Amino acid sequence: MADCLFCKIVAGDVPADIIYESDTAVAFRDISPKAPTHVLVIPREHISTVNEVEPSHERIVGSLFSAARQVAEDEGLAEAGYRLVMNCNEGAGQSVFHIHLHLLGGRRLGWPPG
Ligand code: 5GP
Ligand code: ZN
Repeated sequence: MADCLFCKIVAGDVPADIIYESDTAVAFRDISPKAPTHVLVIPREHISTVNEVEPSHERIVGSLFSAARQVAEDEGLAEAGYRLVMNCNEGAGQSVFHIHLHLLGGRRLGWPPG
């Protein structure tokens, strides 16, 4: 998607602090972190929202969790705990329309989210 910020990060056209890459997923630090560790895990393929996820995406979407698990381990969060969040559409806070898992950790996380 020519107009998509996260497609541009995947393509290397917009710089990002990339900390993990696989054939299907890329993880990089959020530009405006909401926790000591705040990483975004995205598919290389453009999928706008969870509403567009199809059965054919299952391998790709599953790989986001494998990526998140590895990042959490690398960041030293696996034992203490961390949160994975995927917002869908504006009402839930989605502002970039290329699906992404937020990986948040390094502080106590309240529940439920606001
Ligand atoms: P959303 O609001 O869609 O759930 O999450 C989008 C996230 O992308 C936000 O946490 C925001 O800080 C982050 N973000 C927006 N623009 C950029 C950017 O150019 N680079 C990086 N690394 N993160 C960004
Ligand atoms: Zn995209």
